[in-house]
Amino acid sequence: MKLFDSHVHYEDAQFDKDRYERLEHLKNTNIGYILNCCSDVDVFDTILDICEKYDFAYGSLGIHPHWVLETPDHYMDILKAKIQHPKIVAIGEMGLDYFWDEPKDLQKRIFKEQLELAKELNMPVIIHDRDAHEDVIEILEEYQPKGVLHRYSGPVDILKRALAIGMYVSYNNDLSYPDWNAAPIACLMETPWDRLLIETDCPYAAPFEMKDERCEAYHAMNVVSIIAKLRGVSEDFVIEKATENALRVYEINR
Ligand SMILES: [Zn+2]
Repeated sequence: MKLFDSHVHYEDAQFDKDRYERLEHLKNTNIGYILNCCSDVDVFDTILDICEKYDFAYGSLGIHPHWVLETPDHYMDILKAKIQHPKIVAIGEMGLDYFWDEPKDLQKRIFKEQLELAKELNMPVIIHDRDAHEDVIEILEEYQPKGVLHRYSGPVDILKRALAIGMYVSYNNDLSYPDWNAAPIACLMETPWDRLLIETDCPYAAPFEMKDERCEAYHAMNVVSIIAKLRGVSEDFVIEKATENALRVYEINR
């Protein structure tokens, strides 16, 4: 079985020069599926283009909290129209990011509007939470969406609250960084096999051993290897679980 990388950003400007070359290259790797996640309205069409060009590519559309100030007032109309595409299988990434300075009220409003849309369309969401764990979980408990908590590295008790409302959790190469992998490892060990996803978040977050380089989806195999070692199972078992779970949460039938 080939692995599902549940969160990539091939729409990112870091791939402007060789996006389609690098996507083409994935056919020669262990990656069988990607979910290209979204940050803002300006990249909606690039993501749709990736989904149309590659059988193995699926996408999400949505507004990342870091881009709320650049988001046009009528973004919801654009989102509702473009999200009808059959290969757009989730809404996001959405959430709260208190690491940067975007106004919290605006972040919360756009987060909640997207959660409403997900309810209306019965679609899964992809959640971004950076330094905003308590506010994010309170909003998730209020709206009870289905979906994925992506690259989460907060406290285990908040992870458990997310699991309790049915969320899946995705892990990336943060697990390989000795300076800050304690929190994600603690969460990984508490995540049931039927809720665990694997991602790279590429071009960001390359494996520690090549930390200054651009990350690509096939570096998700490094995450597989770390998880297999930490949890004492085979790499094939990890690939099978992470892929089955991604297909289930994004409701892809193949
Ligand atoms: Zn992302």
